[in-house]
Amino acid sequence: MEQNLGITNNILELIGKTPMIKLNRITKGLKGEFFTKFEGYNPGHSTKDRIALHIIEQAEKQGILKKGTTIIETTSGNTGFSLAMVSIIKGYECILAVSSKSSMDKIDMLKAMGAKVYVCPAHVSANDPRSYYQVAKRLHEETADSIYINQYFNQLNADAHYASTGPEIWEQTQGKITHLVAASGTGGTISGTAKYLKEKNPNIKILGVDAFGSVLKKFHETKELDPAEIYPYRIEGLGKNLIPTATNFDIIDKFEKVSDEDAAHRAREIALTEGIFAGYTSGAAMQATIQLAKQGEFDENSKVVIIFPDHGSRYMSKIYNDNWMAEQGFFDTQKYVQQVVEFIK
Ligand code: PMP
Repeated sequence: MEQNLGITNNILELIGKTPMIKLNRITKGLKGEFFTKFEGYNPGHSTKDRIALHIIEQAEKQGILKKGTTIIETTSGNTGFSLAMVSIIKGYECILAVSSKSSMDKIDMLKAMGAKVYVCPAHVSANDPRSYYQVAKRLHEETADSIYINQYFNQLNADAHYASTGPEIWEQTQGKITHLVAASGTGGTISGTAKYLKEKNPNIKILGVDAFGSVLKKFHETKELDPAEIYPYRIEGLGKNLIPTATNFDIIDKFEKVSDEDAAHRAREIALTEGIFAGYTSGAAMQATIQLAKQGEFDENSKVVIIFPDHGSRYMSKIYNDNWMAEQGFFDTQKYVQQVVEFIK
């Protein structure tokens, strides 16, 4: 078909160029202006579309990929979905080793996108042969003509954000951004975006979001991985029990930790106040922003961009499910107004 302004040639052309939305209510009483870069707008509903496309296209350029090659990855779900989507369009096989912490919705979505999924126990060490890292490595060794994306240790992960997320934020804020708040898992988003932004203006402050139960904040402060920091937590895709080389710790000014409970409530509050239906780590990033604001991090001139990494629809059996929230004990300790659903008989 001839080029037509109303038609995209395939789903991959819609990756990136996500909107930036001013937050008007949830930030009431805080100094500064706050905006979200809403990555849930990507066609695969998360920021991971960017890295899946970038890493695969770089491998294609290097001649590593040919039709039928198997793409293997460890993923909390989002990277897997994006890799599966790119694989469909480009004709690759996709195998994913995921953590048992991932919601069943996420696993079903990966299956719906044609990926073969291995679910691995969440609470074992990274070196355990059952961990999703070790399972992915083994599958890569056993599968002829396969590549292992290895997002935690792949520089191309951060490069994808240097090439797209950073420039988009710079352009959308017309260079006025003063602070970036981003959840850190592999660290690709924060490291790549920060590199671009700091090249433009070294005064921009880069604020990472970590979870209680993860080693990132303490490693940033002490350069040591403290095993005492590690314990199970609920937020998916944020924080880590190892140090990913995809993270450039030197470019991050500060980490802020958030709790599972606060992040979950904050995600629900984003929906109720801003009408933006975002994921669990979006709640975490918003919670961290509010904690930082209370510590005096921002002033009247601050223009704070908060990355919301994915869409809320991924969490229907978790933070947006009242039974799950109650099971976690999250309704007991914080006042929460439950919406009423009436069943007409
Ligand atoms: N939020 C979600 C929902 C994610 O899946 C991830 C990726 N693990 C992140 C945040 C963190 O992004 P990054 O890996 O680029 O640090």
